[in-house]
Amino acid sequence: MSGEILVKAVDVCKSFGGFKALDNVSLEVRKGEVCCIIGPSGSGKSTFLRCINLLERIDSGAIWANGELIGYRREGDRLHEMSDAEIARQRRGIGMVFQRFNLFPHKTALENVIEGPVQVLRENPKAAREHALELLARVGLADKCGNYPAELSGGQQQRVAIARALGMRPSLILFDEPTSALDPELVAEVLEVMNDLAGSGMTMIVVTHEMGFARNVSNNVAFMDGGKLIEYGPSERVLTRPDNPRTADFLRAVQ
Ligand code: ADP
Ligand code: MG
Repeated sequence: MSGEILVKAVDVCKSFGGFKALDNVSLEVRKGEVCCIIGPSGSGKSTFLRCINLLERIDSGAIWANGELIGYRREGDRLHEMSDAEIARQRRGIGMVFQRFNLFPHKTALENVIEGPVQVLRENPKAAREHALELLARVGLADKCGNYPAELSGGQQQRVAIARALGMRPSLILFDEPTSALDPELVAEVLEVMNDLAGSGMTMIVVTHEMGFARNVSNNVAFMDGGKLIEYGPSERVLTRPDNPRTADFLRAVQ
């Protein structure tokens, strides 16, 4: 671990109407770290990931990723909203894997992985294809390149989605409950791919209810409740000796 901070959120607030979905959330993730975010439904976990990935605009506070302020550029001491092109550029460096795999249904596994690198990154199609084949092999799907999403199990589709995120050569991948939509017997194959990815040094922020993954793979665990980041620290400590009674209550309920 280099110690370099890759993601930094400071006092992030986000409201929908009068409802505060994120209430002064601050968090730092270092390069190569895996951070799991846990917490009850409606606590703001997805909203937080969506703010990092610029799918939502924050109301106040600041988020840095890859050393850049997200969504804003500074001129003197004033902040200006970025242009759509600037936002698109920043989003390219941040992979996102959703609960629902969101693959293109009319494209094969291989075409799904190639699409972004060729269309968005303007990679040479032959090189993009080579890279996509490598990535599909890495997620254990070398023999499924020519299959359409409907021909794959949920676990296989989610592994294609991870390969697709990797195709964009992100410096960071956000996972929003990547195994929650899967049949129980398909969860392990996706967690194994994520475990490998963590082992390869990828920086990951993972919203999950998989406590085994949080305990065994993540470096740090963040507990959110009611839009607030209640507790954040080394996984082992937070999961076994939480400081906050709300974290303890939540852990008792899920374990
Ligand atoms: P979690 O992922 O922890 O379940 P979310 O971040 O999805 O929670 O949602 C946090 C709260 O914000 C919820 O009460 C949810 O209803 C609300 N919320 C999220 N997105 C929107 C939106 N686009 N419009 C209105 N309310 C929203
Ligand atoms: Mg959510």
